[in-house]
Amino acid sequence: MELRKDPITRSWVICGDEPERSSTTDYFCPFCPESAQPLQVIATSPTVNGSPWSARAVVHPHPLYGIDGEPNRSGNGLYDTMQPVGAHEVIVENARHDRHLWNADDREIEEYLALCGQRIQDLKGDVRFKYVSVFKNFGSASGQEFDHPTSEIVATTFVPRRVLYELRAARQHYQVKERCVFCDILKQEQDQKLRVVEVRGDYIACCPYAPRVPYETWITPRSHEAYFERMAQKSGAMRDLAAMLRRTLYRIRTIADGFHMVLHTSPNTMHRSETLGFWKTIEDDYHWHIEILPILGAKAKSYTFKEVYYSPVSSETAAAILRERPTER
Ligand SMILES: [Zn+2]
Ligand SMILES: [Zn+2]
Ligand SMILES: [Zn+2]
Repeated sequence: MELRKDPITRSWVICGDEPERSSTTDYFCPFCPESAQPLQVIATSPTVNGSPWSARAVVHPHPLYGIDGEPNRSGNGLYDTMQPVGAHEVIVENARHDRHLWNADDREIEEYLALCGQRIQDLKGDVRFKYVSVFKNFGSASGQEFDHPTSEIVATTFVPRRVLYELRAARQHYQVKERCVFCDILKQEQDQKLRVVEVRGDYIACCPYAPRVPYETWITPRSHEAYFERMAQKSGAMRDLAAMLRRTLYRIRTIADGFHMVLHTSPNTMHRSETLGFWKTIEDDYHWHIEILPILGAKAKSYTFKEVYYSPVSSETAAAILRERPTER
């Protein structure tokens, strides 16, 4: 595997011929507490309700990125290549195989969120890493890798494209208006109340004005904060987020078979890159958030061609439907 840069869009892709994995007749889940499979455990959150533990971080059993070495960025004519140096971890969301982020205890989800924050903070201590991504794929059409409830953490030597777009746009908005674009959006959404799914404590769930897929939903803190991991360290700050995440995913699960979820937080500002002059105003111009992109099996065909995103359900209708959906059994 190697990282290649698209010379036109400047986005990095991980590319290579993946070796065939021997299909072992392995009936045991590697992440269940009783599993005999050796895992490299990085961190474990204590139990909150008598289960063996509440969440844990382990090294990905088949990592796409390797922790050792330097990226050795090199050129080949007009093309750029680097080695996939990074960290690839699995966050096991719960000790139980059937407890997901939409049906676990809020306290367990709180531990999961705190652990994500700790892992981001820790990985950002490595100056080679410019960004730490946390994401989850759920459902057969999503690229879900394991049956056990899991998320993934990837630390990379580059900032992923979507985050770069957001950082550039947020900085430009700030240069013109001296305000955070996300705070401005939240203010308008809370005034208009057309696309708000739920407000809970310091958090708001909204369908974005221009969604990429039907029922796309974002969870954002209502007070300005550029770094998720900093907020996660504040005592009690994840309590409302845990409930909000559980309720929102429950609503989405009543509509969609699967989803992609991604956390967007600020890049590693320990890594002072001159070429990306983002860091000067990032405290004020960027605002962390969680994006959830549902996968609607039956309607997937109509928007798989992503030249222009097409959502056959408006954000206003999506928010109205999601508001009425149950949030627990
Ligand atoms: Zn399991
Ligand atoms: Zn803000
Ligand atoms: Zn984002």
